[in-house]
Amino acid sequence: MADVVGLCDICGRPGSMCTCQLCGRFVCERCYEHRHSLCIECAHQKRRSDTPSHPIE
Ligand SMILES: [Zn+2]
Ligand SMILES: [Zn+2]
Repeated sequence: MADVVGLCDICGRPGSMCTCQLCGRFVCERCYEHRHSLCIECAHQKRRSDTPSHPIE
């Protein structure tokens, strides 16, 4: 995916944007979980909805 420069939908800072695959928001790399291709908010919700048998962190 090509880099898109804009304002982050979460923190409001300019930078290279990524698109959340769940909510479609443009978020900066700091607010993006590349492992899940989700913004940190969706990744957080996903983490809560999941019930991992062993914690990652
Ligand atoms: Zn951000
Ligand atoms: Zn999202």
